[in-house]
Amino acid sequence: MKTNEDHSTLESTGATIAAPLTITCPICGMTSAHPMDVRAGYCPNCHDFTSARLPKTFPEAPPGASDVEVVTALGQAERDGARAPLLVGPFTAWVMISTLQLAWRHPNLSEDMRGRIRRGADQLISLYAGRARELLEAGWDPTQDQPFQPRR
Ligand SMILES: [Zn+2]
Repeated sequence: MKTNEDHSTLESTGATIAAPLTITCPICGMTSAHPMDVRAGYCPNCHDFTSARLPKTFPEAPPGASDVEVVTALGQAERDGARAPLLVGPFTAWVMISTLQLAWRHPNLSEDMRGRIRRGADQLISLYAGRARELLEAGWDPTQDQPFQPRR
């Protein structure tokens, strides 16, 4: 949830809490200034309380946690249901999918990591239709690779 607070009001009144004036939906990116939407975390475009149920950030490991503990805490947060939306355009998503498909072939990846990459990228691929989708799905099959032609 991204709220846009009026800090000038905060400074001029000496209040400790600034009320958000607008709210930006983490799913579709629409901003609403309607006080009821702001208060409830409601998105009039999605017709859902999108801001209310999504975290601003993923849960964090305690201070002083080791590298392993940080990653372990993220795994636990995911098992507990933590999720975040992704706002991305079609070309950037294409680049991300293609890059994930390359990484997916790395011989040192565990089956668990390979499965996570595949399921995440397949969510993005499901946003495409027609020829674009066919090309992206072919990216999982090395026999479909096209020779790289460097630009001159
Ligand atoms: Zn929305």
